[in-house]
Amino acid sequence: MYDFNQCKQCGKRSGSPKYKLKNMVLYACSDCDFHYTNVLDVLDDGETPSRTLSTTEHHYIESQLPQNSRQLSLNLDFVQQHIEVAGSTCLDIGCGAGVFPSLLHHAGAMVSAIEPQPLFRQFCHQRFDITPHHELIDSPYWQQGFAEHFDIVTLWDTLEHVNFPAETITALSRVIKPQGYLFLDTPSRDSFSYRLSEWSYRFSRGRNPLMLNSLYSAKRFGHKQIFTQQQLWQLVEKHGLTIIGRSALHRAKNKHVIVCQKK
Ligand SMILES: [Zn+2]
Repeated sequence: MYDFNQCKQCGKRSGSPKYKLKNMVLYACSDCDFHYTNVLDVLDDGETPSRTLSTTEHHYIESQLPQNSRQLSLNLDFVQQHIEVAGSTCLDIGCGAGVFPSLLHHAGAMVSAIEPQPLFRQFCHQRFDITPHHELIDSPYWQQGFAEHFDIVTLWDTLEHVNFPAETITALSRVIKPQGYLFLDTPSRDSFSYRLSEWSYRFSRGRNPLMLNSLYSAKRFGHKQIFTQQQLWQLVEKHGLTIIGRSALHRAKNKHVIVCQKK
């Protein structure tokens, strides 16, 4: 059982409950001001999917693909502005239904992917003929077998979902080649709507947290932490990665979209 008084960002025992939300508590660190929920996912043994994807589920995921594909095509353009994808080794962490690994594959990359949810892995296999791994990035499978292996690691809308983002960045940094790249996007806590939600919570004494209940979620694989730009930059730079750019293609103001290079 994790002690949430220990900040998930800076590791100091400076975290305390700040906002009581729907089925969860949002902690804040008095030292680094990191915000994180008291929710952690218990991960299944990914080797044994409890059931197979139903036709209805397959159709539902399929129906969501066009929307995902538009954003992920922009992400691919962003990657290609920095490195030639054809012939490169790529790892997409948290690939969901598998749209991005499929785009990378068609662009000529050698692609690996990680996805903890069995139903998405099944869909990806059926739809794109790509089989994502269930092993998480900090597992021996990657850490021992793929040290300094990848030219490109991508993390699209994933960092806010993982149990421990600092550990995820540490682990993924190890599998990137020297001079290799990390591309990621994640929601931003610097938005006006976030601050407004915090004010509203305080003035209503918790009755009206506005967006806080939709920005975070107690559901499985929901959002567990949202970064300010400064917190995100500190986190990646602490692990030997240098931020070399931000996307000009993305218009979403409430997101950080960055590229980092390993030293
Ligand atoms: Zn902290």
